[in-house]
Amino acid sequence: MSLDDIREVNLKIYKKARMAKMLTSYHGRWIGVIDGKEITTSSYCKCSHCKKRKLRDKEGKLKYQYYHQFTALILACSDFSFTIDIEPILPGEGEQTSAYRLLKRVCKNYPKAFSLVIGDGLYLNGKIFKLLEGHHKKTIAVLKEERRQLFEEASKLSLLAKPKVYREGATSYRVWEHTISGCWDGYGKDVRVIVSEETTTRRVHSKDGKGWEDIEEVSNWMWATNLEVSSSIGDLKNTVKVCHSRWHIENRCFKEAADMWNAEHIYRHSANAIIVFLLFLFMAVNIFNIFRIRNLKDKKIRTKLNLIMRLKADFLSLARPLPPITI
Ligand SMILES: [Zn+2]
Repeated sequence: MSLDDIREVNLKIYKKARMAKMLTSYHGRWIGVIDGKEITTSSYCKCSHCKKRKLRDKEGKLKYQYYHQFTALILACSDFSFTIDIEPILPGEGEQTSAYRLLKRVCKNYPKAFSLVIGDGLYLNGKIFKLLEGHHKKTIAVLKEERRQLFEEASKLSLLAKPKVYREGATSYRVWEHTISGCWDGYGKDVRVIVSEETTTRRVHSKDGKGWEDIEEVSNWMWATNLEVSSSIGDLKNTVKVCHSRWHIENRCFKEAADMWNAEHIYRHSANAIIVFLLFLFMAVNIFNIFRIRNLKDKKIRTKLNLIMRLKADFLSLARPLPPITI
């Protein structure tokens, strides 16, 4: 089955939804989020396109584990995520190679869908930054310790400069923004690094079981970007929120697809069929989410699961054979 024919249908759904203002930006920005995902992990179900790795079982014996992987790009809307496209990660290649193909195709097919792409540490990749820049898009990537030169420079500068301090709900933020030159050869241009130290206070049962106590959880984040970041506190707050929208792909796309839509189930184990089923699934989820957010009049339906169950019940109670749908 032609993957591009299915992708064409999803593009039509996107265009219709965007024109009808059914999709909303996230904190004022149109953001694409990209990440890789593993599926069909098994010790015995395999095909000629499976990736494989060696593992030790409980008895210490070495055995192969077979799996497929794909990269996905979603649009992070304020109330749900719209899955734009997916691309397989082929045996012998890494996530960045597949992501490059995906981004190249998506920039051509969805030229104005987003102006910014966010990814994890793997996306701090000069080739990907330059590809997106060529399509007038900015990139944000998580900066991890492995990128020693840039990471150490940002850490050093944070010790010398005063952070912007603010509070939102139960979390207080200390945020630095640095412009760094000459620490990333693969890109060759200045980059901005945003450092955010986030302290969240949570109320928990006290250890003696008689009352409550407040505990503080600290998390530290660093992102590298070619996005212009204004030093105004409002802009910086917004940028930190935008950087955190990377979690949408895990929570709203991969997790939801697995928990509610049975995305892990393999209907047919072949390289083409796996991607075909996933493309159909994400297309159905896109339509479902738009319908739920924009069209649902029945206030008694409060959860997604409830709506899914009702749709399923209606579908199962239809007269068989199903009447043909006129197009
Ligand atoms: Zn396989």
